[in-house]
Amino acid sequence: MALIKCPECGKEISNEAKACPHCGKPIPREKGKLFYKSINFWIVMAAVLLVAIMVIFFIVQYNKGVEKARQSDEYKELQEIIDRSKKISSEAESDLEELKEMQDQLDRLSYD
Ligand SMILES: [Zn+2]
Repeated sequence: MALIKCPECGKEISNEAKACPHCGKPIPREKGKLFYKSINFWIVMAAVLLVAIMVIFFIVQYNKGVEKARQSDEYKELQEIIDRSKKISSEAESDLEELKEMQDQLDRLSYD
């Protein structure tokens, strides 16, 4: 049994007393106090962990967004190249068709 100071009136009381005999202030048990402290500790730890997870999640999402934007730029460039080559090939096709028609006309001319 040890003497502690009452948090209310400051008089010395037994640490085993449930309440201060001078002012009637209920004294929290040492065990309960520790338990309360540990609950607080875990709440703080959980909050810190949550914030850390949120920060990591945010960083990961941000990096993903940057990567996506970069990829979409590359994709756009690729699409442009594809479009250009399609245009060129369709132009070449129409040129080829013109050439075929000319060939046909030439053939017809030579048959006549
Ligand atoms: Zn007291």
